[in-house]
Amino acid sequence: MKFVGPGEVVLLKESGPVSQTQGRDTMHICAFLWIYTGFPASVYEGINVETVRERCGRSLAKRDKDIEVDMVSGVPDSGVAHAIGYAMESGKPYRRPLVKYTPGYGRSYTPPDQTTRDHIARMKLIPVREIINGQRIVVCEDSIVRGTQLKNFTLNKLWDAGAREVHVRPACPPLMFPCKYCLSTRSIDELAARRAIRALEGEDKKDISTYLDADSTQYQKMVDWIARDLNVTTLRFQRVADMVKAIGLPREKLCLHCWLGEQGHTEGKEEAQQHELGATS
Ligand code: SF4
Repeated sequence: MKFVGPGEVVLLKESGPVSQTQGRDTMHICAFLWIYTGFPASVYEGINVETVRERCGRSLAKRDKDIEVDMVSGVPDSGVAHAIGYAMESGKPYRRPLVKYTPGYGRSYTPPDQTTRDHIARMKLIPVREIINGQRIVVCEDSIVRGTQLKNFTLNKLWDAGAREVHVRPACPPLMFPCKYCLSTRSIDELAARRAIRALEGEDKKDISTYLDADSTQYQKMVDWIARDLNVTTLRFQRVADMVKAIGLPREKLCLHCWLGEQGHTEGKEEAQQHELGATS
């Protein structure tokens, strides 16, 4: 199997693939491929998407020794593999309190206008009251972008069906920066974490570096604000280091811009330099 290199252009001919350019040595492949956008059976750089998602779920469960739940669930589709990993690690049963109306329904973030997005999101998940009523539920989700759809069309359905507790576990850290390269996230305004920071600070902050540190007080305040906004019992995001470990590539080979902005690139470069220094010393 051949993986297309960074910057490499491959022409698919009847006789087979032909490289038109040489790939570069350095790469920053999108980490979001494994968390959300990639197809479960896909393999990037030799690493399968579904298995990374299971490892993400496992690492979320490892940090959750302080909660007691009755079941683990995932928001279909990409949240499911994260939830299966969580269930395997925690020993709690994986169940489906929310089922998809029809498999293969379009991704709700794709349509450009909010009305169509809301319409799709409203129809997409059907609650199973007999499974939900009176239960303490962990909900694994790939990520929280705006949070409004998750709240209105997923979590509220659990509450309405009688859930006792709802614990949300996103498989990646809070999204802080819109993607510069694709359409996964489009603007700062739509990010739940930025809304939280604006509410806490009373203004748009240019320097948000303290909010990027998962051990800082500001980070915890931001997460608490999002949890209140989502109306959930607890909210705990994946940590950057745990996500990178779950993917299994060296950090400097990943694009982490969504979560760390330019800091992600700088850290990557520093680590790559240290790598090189280590290799030559
Ligand atoms: S900014 Fe985010 S979505 Fe865009 S390539 Fe980087 S990791 Fe992927």
